[in-house]
Amino acid sequence: MILFDLKCTSEHVFEAWFPDSASFEKQVKAKAVQCPVCGDTKVKKAPMAPRISTKSEEKPTTVVSDDSDSKAMELLRELRDHVESNCDYVGSEFPEEARKIHYGESEKRGIYGEASAEDAKEMVEEGLEIGQLPWLPRRNS
Ligand SMILES: [Zn+2]
Repeated sequence: MILFDLKCTSEHVFEAWFPDSASFEKQVKAKAVQCPVCGDTKVKKAPMAPRISTKSEEKPTTVVSDDSDSKAMELLRELRDHVESNCDYVGSEFPEEARKIHYGESEKRGIYGEASAEDAKEMVEEGLEIGQLPWLPRRNS
């Protein structure tokens, strides 16, 4: 089935389903397609309206769910534990602190914290080595 945007001679635009393009032509010729507004049978295909996306171009975050026997979730937990015990938490100061370390103004060390997608992009462009962590909810420990 194909969905066509159709238009009658009075510029009423409506949609109709057809098994294929050929049967659309056939039904129009047979005056079997009527404008639902005025009943006009002189219909033709309307130009497709451009699709307008209101969503911003924010990159989706990769998410993981693992119900299988693979070790993905375990590895993620280990990664989190490793980061939390080996890196300093700097919170929202991350972009600033990461740059200080990168440019030698701060002691070289591992840090973690929060950065916006925008900040992350800028840091990568400046040549900073950063990674995005898939934080998991804390276990009850
Ligand atoms: Zn019409």
